[in-house]
Amino acid sequence: MKLSILGCYSATPRALTNPTAQVLEIKGHVFLIDCGEGTQVQLRKQQIKFARIKHVFISHLHGDHFFGLPGLISTFMLLGREAELHIYGPKGIKKAVTTMLKVGNAWTNFPLIFHELTAKESEIIFEDEKISVKTIPLIHRIYTNGFLFSEKEGERKLNIGAAEDYGIDVSYYRNIKQGKDVMNEEGKLIANQLLTFDPPAPKSYAFCSDTAFNQEIIPIIKNAGVLYHESTFTKAHEHLTKPTGHSTAAEAATIAREANVGMLILGHYSTRYKSLEVFKNEAKSIFKNVHLAEDGKVFEL
Ligand SMILES: [Zn+2]
Repeated sequence: MKLSILGCYSATPRALTNPTAQVLEIKGHVFLIDCGEGTQVQLRKQQIKFARIKHVFISHLHGDHFFGLPGLISTFMLLGREAELHIYGPKGIKKAVTTMLKVGNAWTNFPLIFHELTAKESEIIFEDEKISVKTIPLIHRIYTNGFLFSEKEGERKLNIGAAEDYGIDVSYYRNIKQGKDVMNEEGKLIANQLLTFDPPAPKSYAFCSDTAFNQEIIPIIKNAGVLYHESTFTKAHEHLTKPTGHSTAAEAATIAREANVGMLILGHYSTRYKSLEVFKNEAKSIFKNVHLAEDGKVFEL
């Protein structure tokens, strides 16, 4: 699993800071998560192949999270894209994007498929045999979802040496990988555990931006491998969290600790802060494994 941070600042794009956008590579998928202004420039800078993006997940309809989408779709058209593009986001996203295309008298020559979200409870919005994507309802000024990307448990790994020692015919190897007990040449039932290794532990990534402090997300993201949680402010500006629907670094760390995640990545920083270290230090006093998102940074997870 690989996470590329394209942009991780709040509100307006600046010379050296970009609004929210990330690319998550997981089990062969290249998922774009949020698409702030300038996302396609960041994709170019990080040499991520546009054509590989088939699914875009938009948390909410504030401009700093989706104004890059019409431009990106327009570029897909110019590049002659033919593959489907699936867009998951709040109700209204279809109208917003198609209005832009209509006004410009532009229509995609590829299927643009919108999945508009309205549920207030967590729901599965994408699934295949290897992964699932679930919404994480957040509390913000408008309807907002985070997303939990989870790998499914893989097949057990065959211990060929053990299978040979127990005298198992190769025609049973498929069943063994699926977790079944099998007969050996002498007709004795051999327990699967003696013939296999555990599969690698499934990985998961929870994206939570934008949100006020919300403990109701804890059961949804419990034990996630990695949590990205917004920290627009530090404690010094805690009074701004309520009116804006954002969190402090300390609040992000509290969610990480209570949800027992493996690692916390902070982001969505207000551009009023000169250094990001203050976010990290504040969070570290509550939760140990804290990392800072930075534009252009890649996390191998
Ligand atoms: Zn917002």
